[in-house]
Amino acid sequence: MQKMITRRKKTIKDIDVRGKQVLVRADFNVPLNEDGTIADDTRIRASLPTIRYLCERDARVILCSHLDRPQGTVVERLRLALVANRLSVLLDRPVAALHDCIGPEVESAVAAMSGGDIVLLENLRFHPEEKADDPAFAENLSRLAEVYVNDAFGASHRAHASIVGVPEHLPAVAGLLLAKELDAFARVLQNPERPFAAVIGGAKVSDKLGVLENIIPRVDLLLIGGGMAATFLASRGYGTGASTVETDRLDDVERISAKAAELGVRLLLPRDVVVAESLDSGTRARVVPASEIPDDLIIADIGPEAASEFCRELAECRTVVWNGPMGVFEVPEFAEGTRRVAATLANLHGTTVIGGGSTADAVTRFGLADKMTHVSTGGGAALTMLAGKPLPGVEALEEAEEP
Ligand code: ADP
Ligand code: MG
Repeated sequence: MQKMITRRKKTIKDIDVRGKQVLVRADFNVPLNEDGTIADDTRIRASLPTIRYLCERDARVILCSHLDRPQGTVVERLRLALVANRLSVLLDRPVAALHDCIGPEVESAVAAMSGGDIVLLENLRFHPEEKADDPAFAENLSRLAEVYVNDAFGASHRAHASIVGVPEHLPAVAGLLLAKELDAFARVLQNPERPFAAVIGGAKVSDKLGVLENIIPRVDLLLIGGGMAATFLASRGYGTGASTVETDRLDDVERISAKAAELGVRLLLPRDVVVAESLDSGTRARVVPASEIPDDLIIADIGPEAASEFCRELAECRTVVWNGPMGVFEVPEFAEGTRRVAATLANLHGTTVIGGGSTADAVTRFGLADKMTHVSTGGGAALTMLAGKPLPGVEALEEAEEP
């Protein structure tokens, strides 16, 4: 069994933050509606414990984040004032939105803060230096504070200035959300209660190879659904109709299947599937056995028998990690497999960790997020963790002293 050697990182609870100027890198990269309003404020809510903790200790809280992809220039609709407004409502106290994230005006605004005040710097990605991890930009950011806190799990797989550059200049520790995320993944990857299952789905097998390779030696059971099931079915000689098969990944899939067999990991593919002419809403959907997929139809979801089998197996598990929806859950006709897996995990007496942007979105839409042990706020960062790779933003933080 592979063991990851991870030392615990210091958190805000391990240092003295009282009255200090604290720069908090948060992840306020929230989805927006077409009219520019916030579509889902989960990530903003997830940042509240750290902010409250700091305010209660009279720290001067300087928040920063990116939002979307402004490509290094000022984009009016991506100003963080809209996040500051939401934060201010959620915290029931003022949160001042500044018009830039570095420079003399920002420095004087920060110098005028009192204990317990909160400001939010402007979208970091208005400056191309953020993504480029420009040393001068990182230094300018670090000049605003005495302590750096990374609470941006969802951005910690990126080696950007606010993630890896600033910690070179300041004492750098994890916020409460980041610590919670790391704990949740450590719980499943390091010492899971057994039986331990992974449910892997989503669009493409090529996005999930790292996760599959890392997870196989750790689990007892691996369930495969989503679009990537087509490539698994094809590698076993099944006809997959008009589904997208990643032919350049058939070798990888065979290797993964062989590895599972060698390690005695049970790998289940859907025994039946929902197929349709297209993945759009309103298309006629029908259920067929996986061995009888008509040539002109596409796999859009796992079928009812597969869902029953998956749920029966999962109900026996003590730990489940789930990445990737079982079908095109955004379309009601193809959401049932994902919904049934979500419902089973919601009722599980054990640890359930949900990682992946779409998977988290699905669980939230079904109203089941609260019933899981942990729903990760990071997409790419969760995949990086599940693939067993270090997050640069976490590596950059100070290690906790050995107990
Ligand atoms: P996550 O963001 O949770 O890691 P992915 O990005 O890998 O998940 O995949 C999510 C997408 O996969 C969803 O948009 C979903 O519609 C799509 N998907 C699921 N099943 C299928 C399928 N059978 N065919 C095509 N796309 C699918
Ligand atoms: Mg995704």
